[in-house]
Amino acid sequence: MVRMAGVDKHFGDLHVLRDIDLEVARGEVVVVLGPSGSGKSTLCRAINRLEPIDSGIVEIDGVALPAEGSELAKVRADVGMVFQQFNLFAHMTILDNITLAPVRVRGVSKSEAQERARALLDRVGIGDQSGKYPAQLSGGQQQRVAIARALAMQPKVMLFDEPTSALDPEMVGEVVEVMSDLARDGMTMVVVTHEMGFARRAAHRVVFMDGGEIVEDTTPDSFFSRPATERARDFLGKIL
Ligand code: ATP
Ligand code: MG
Repeated sequence: MVRMAGVDKHFGDLHVLRDIDLEVARGEVVVVLGPSGSGKSTLCRAINRLEPIDSGIVEIDGVALPAEGSELAKVRADVGMVFQQFNLFAHMTILDNITLAPVRVRGVSKSEAQERARALLDRVGIGDQSGKYPAQLSGGQQQRVAIARALAMQPKVMLFDEPTSALDPEMVGEVVEVMSDLARDGMTMVVVTHEMGFARRAAHRVVFMDGGEIVEDTTPDSFFSRPATERARDFLGKIL
């Protein structure tokens, strides 16, 4: 579903992605771990070319992402993204936040988009909040809206970049639960997170990055119990 091959990226002199090869199969959940600055966010953003790359190939569902243009927008619409910051439109209701892109980009009728949005809000556990504005919701609720908004585009793959890192601790669980449900339902997911519980329970694979490289790509069980490299052991020693 996602294929990256030979992807390189520099920021000036800094080599932030080094010859990245990554394949994510349909329905697979890949958790990306690694120290701060290792390139996790850049990797995530490179998947839908929010971050331009120097060289290499990125494909979504067999279609190579061009560097720009309408074809890029089309492929990008198949990739849902959820960030640490929720990035909701403050002046729009929750319902309008969710229906905007399906109506504008996918050409879905307003009534159908609203019906789907309500179903998605129910699915993420906030069906009663649709008429409110983002500022009237808790952080955990806002992040669940952001997830519902991404899902409203019926993406082929969902990218999460530290979706719980900006939340108060008591709200982390409700967002992790929504992500776990999605994983169980067979969504293809790439997740950068510090939630090791999620990585252990929900991930099919753990990708460990350091210094812009993929250093390990293995099962959660083997990564957490038998890390193959000193770099991964060192990382785990600091976080566990
Ligand atoms: P964190 O865990 O702190 O979020 P990360 O693994 O997501 O870190 P990236 O944000 O991908 O790391 O950054 C990788 C490297 O690229 C870092 O050294 C960072 O300082 C650098 N970097 C990121 N964005 C830019 C930019 N726009 N311009 C210059 N350097 C950047
Ligand atoms: Mg990051």
